[in-house]
Amino acid sequence: MVEKYQLFIDGSWRDGAQGETFPGINPFDQEVWASLPAAAEEDVTAAVAAARRAFETGWRHTSPLERATLIERLAGLLEANADRMSLLETTDNGKVIRETRAQMFYAARVFRFFAGYADKIFGSVIPLDQRGIFDFAMREPYGVVAAITAWNSPIALLANKLPAALAAGNCVVVKPSEHASATTLELCRLVEKAGFPPGVINVVTGDARVGRALVGAEGIDKVSFTGSPGVGREIASMAGRNLRPVTLELGGKSPNIVFADADIEKAVVGALAGIFAATGQTCIAGSRLLVQRPVYQEMIQRLAERAEKIVLGDPRKPSTEMGTAANEPQFRRILDYIEVAKREGARLVTGGEPARSGDLAKGLFVKPTIFADVANSMRVAQEEIFGPVLSVIPFDEEEEAVEIGNASPYGLACGVWTRDVSRAMRMIRAMRTGVVWVNTYRMVAAQAPFGGVKNSGFGRERGEQGLLEFTTTKNVMIDFSDEKRDPFAVKA
Ligand code: NAD
Repeated sequence: MVEKYQLFIDGSWRDGAQGETFPGINPFDQEVWASLPAAAEEDVTAAVAAARRAFETGWRHTSPLERATLIERLAGLLEANADRMSLLETTDNGKVIRETRAQMFYAARVFRFFAGYADKIFGSVIPLDQRGIFDFAMREPYGVVAAITAWNSPIALLANKLPAALAAGNCVVVKPSEHASATTLELCRLVEKAGFPPGVINVVTGDARVGRALVGAEGIDKVSFTGSPGVGREIASMAGRNLRPVTLELGGKSPNIVFADADIEKAVVGALAGIFAATGQTCIAGSRLLVQRPVYQEMIQRLAERAEKIVLGDPRKPSTEMGTAANEPQFRRILDYIEVAKREGARLVTGGEPARSGDLAKGLFVKPTIFADVANSMRVAQEEIFGPVLSVIPFDEEEEAVEIGNASPYGLACGVWTRDVSRAMRMIRAMRTGVVWVNTYRMVAAQAPFGGVKNSGFGRERGEQGLLEFTTTKNVMIDFSDEKRDPFAVKA
């Protein structure tokens, strides 16, 4: 049966104004499982207007405790519905259930973290040169936030934006990806149950046209975007034309750097998790594995042995370890890159083709793929593939690892595997990325700020910085003296 969804605007459910829909396709069997509303421009306008009304007339005047209570309640509902939500997300984007289920609890944790911040958005008292003046700076919400997300982890990505924006006192219009919209709309059922006032959270679904209409809408005060650098550039340009602030969480081509003095077994596990978890469809994929020559062959051999044992299958089964590419264009893109790597002369160690045996036949499966002897200048090492394709690059000296690691248009994350603390400290300083992991990879936490530099974007999500992205500063000066401070009375 095809699940039929509606837009969530101003606390009520409605079809798109033009009555258009688009299908939700399960990448495991290519079946249409959902029908989603394609929002028209008037729907976007209505959603932004509802958010504005909710902001001006209610939400901005709520107490931090009220906001915290509602966000907490939503977190609890998300946990209580984790089974259903994860099954839907897995059906929608092919990410394995063990990951989507964990992500629901993780998202709830991030909601709770920001709920706890609602009454801790402190200002500061600032001592001035002038006497008799009391100066303080306070943090205020922007107003209406446009939150646009990618398809790889709709709820987890939204958790980086929604609770922080709400805790700070903003109202939000969300636009999930057209490739995985269902769970964002499902979340609105929980929003209703939690008791949020109408208009505080709105969701419009559809493709790039809906995203463009939202970013360009009058009444948007802040844009928070997660997606590709190309679209990020377009969004930042639009927001720039409207003089609106933007946070951009974009792609990556992250180096995972293994030194010969590392715990090699631990590094093997970290490298595999870095690229094959989430089928490599994650912005923080450790897609470039830099390995110091003394352990280069050993690493490749161990990685290949493990990669070949990864269990592909129905993403909804708990035993499945790696799922499908999330959609047809992404599947094609991954296979195209594999061909590019072969043509460029990278050495295929394992994988390198679709997996089609047994019940994988209809699914968009790509075998876990490892290329060795990759040169960092190859396209396969420079461009984000967003799939289970690892490029292994050898190096000799630490300086060379730094040079190769930083020779990328991206700067999202970096992994360093070493037992030498001094080396780890040097690497932390040397790498031009927003995140560095030492002897671990892909670890995320509600409390830790996350984001990139260079083409990976700007601004931060999660942690205190993630909250402050949704606030603006108002400075206040109060003259409590009897002085008249007449500027014309000043003697020359
Ligand atoms: P995408 O840029 O194609 O789309 C992202 C969202 O933007 C979708 O909702 C899409 O409909 C919308 N959109 C597309 N064109 C638009 C436009 N012109 N104006 C407004 N909205 C528009 O990205 P994707 O394919 O959905 O996701 C993959 C990308 O996301 C990868 O590059 C990945 O690295 C990145 N990503 C980054 C993070 C992070 O936190 N840094 C997390 C997940 C994914």
